[in-house]
Formats: sequence, C-alpha cells, structure tokens
Amino acid sequence: MDNRPRIVVLGRQGAGKGTQCALLAEHLAVPHVSTGDLFRAAVREGSPVGQRVAGIVDGGGLVPDDLVLDVVWEHAACSDLAASGYVLDGFPRTVAQAEAFFGPFPPAASTWTGPGLDVALELEVPVEVVVERISTRRVCPVDGWTSTVEDATVESVPCPDGHPAVQRSDDTAEAVRRRLTLYDTETGPLSPWFAARGELVVVDGNGPPDQVFTRVLRALEPVLDRSAAPT
Ligand SMILES: [Zn+2]
Repeated sequence: MDNRPRIVVLGRQGAGKGTQCALLAEHLAVPHVSTGDLFRAAVREGSPVGQRVAGIVDGGGLVPDDLVLDVVWEHAACSDLAASGYVLDGFPRTVAQAEAFFGPFPPAASTWTGPGLDVALELEVPVEVVVERISTRRVCPVDGWTSTVEDATVESVPCPDGHPAVQRSDDTAEAVRRRLTLYDTETGPLSPWFAARGELVVVDGNGPPDQVFTRVLRALEPVLDRSAAPT
C-alpha cells in the first residue's frame, strides 16, 4: 500500500480537534481539510454554494448534508484526496455524509471509488472539560484563528494578523451544552459506524495539546506504519 495517510478526526466541539488535526497534517505532510475553512472560503468567494452556506450560518443553523457535500466536493476532488492523503476536520458530521463520501459497507459489495480511509480517530474528552474549554475560547471573526485564555473574564486577545479574537456569542455554557447534545444525536452514531468498518481508534483527548498529540501518534502508529510501508 503506497497511499498517503487518510485520516478522519472525530470529537465533540472543544475536544481540541482543530489543534490535533493541524499537528497531524504537519507531522504527516498531508493536507488539513477543514470544513470550517471550506465554508468560510465558499462564503468569501460568494459562489452560489457559498451564498446558501452564508444564509444558513448567519441564521445560526447547521449546514444540511447535501450542502456540506457540495462544498467538500467543490474544493476537494476524491481522486486528489486519495493521492495526497488527508486529515479531515469537521467532516463527516453525520452517517449520511460518511456514507456519501466513504461508500457503503462492506466495500466489497460495491463499486464505490471514494477517497478511501485508513483510520477514524476519535478524541474523547469529558463534557465538563469541553464546556470549560469553550467558555475560555476566543475566535478571530475574520479568519477563524482560535486561542484559549486562562482567565475567562478576558474579553479578547489579538490574532497573529492583529484582529481582536473574541468570545463567540453562542459560547455560553448553556449554548455549549445544547450543541453537545446535538453532536451526540447527529455525530455520535459515526463512532459505531466507523467501528463496524474496523476503522475507529479512540484516544483520550484530555490534557495539554502536546501530550494528547503524543498519545495520538502512539495510537496511530500501527495504522501509519501500514500505510507508509514500502510495497
Ligand atoms: Zn484574525
């Protein structure tokens, strides 16, 4: 097998998914494909798809499956991803999206030619930790740069480009719990879905990012050795 590593990262909002995805993508030299970034890019471009996304996101809604898939297909062709490898961040969010992207299971029963997948990595973090992390989160409204403040009363910190990164209005504890419940309903079923395909690896995501990353690499070692092995 001479494929570059193909990895999906799952985890509740605030589980450190974006950070671990960025670290993994850099370490493995594969593209970091974030649907958050793709949505922002589509909105900036003002394409028909971007205009639909903007309308939904501005209204505080979740982007529906078909539109998510449109955005992903538009920016990341299957054939490209199969060749380059990837770290997918924020996608798939539902079993319907996963089925559309990775095809039915078992694969032998179909002629599906998707990008393929080596491992779905789930970052497991307790709800209380996630709520704490999100309430100390500050996000740049211009480019999505994200940081954590130690003191939750600090209103903003500058992003590398000098914009003030602020607390999002929906990052209150109550709003966070509502989104976590939605995550459990919508995205929770993906864990058994990937597990049934033999693709799920669960890692404890609690702790400083560098410690979590060490755990991630250790857990992925068998998979990565396999995909990097000379044919
Ligand atoms: Zn910024």
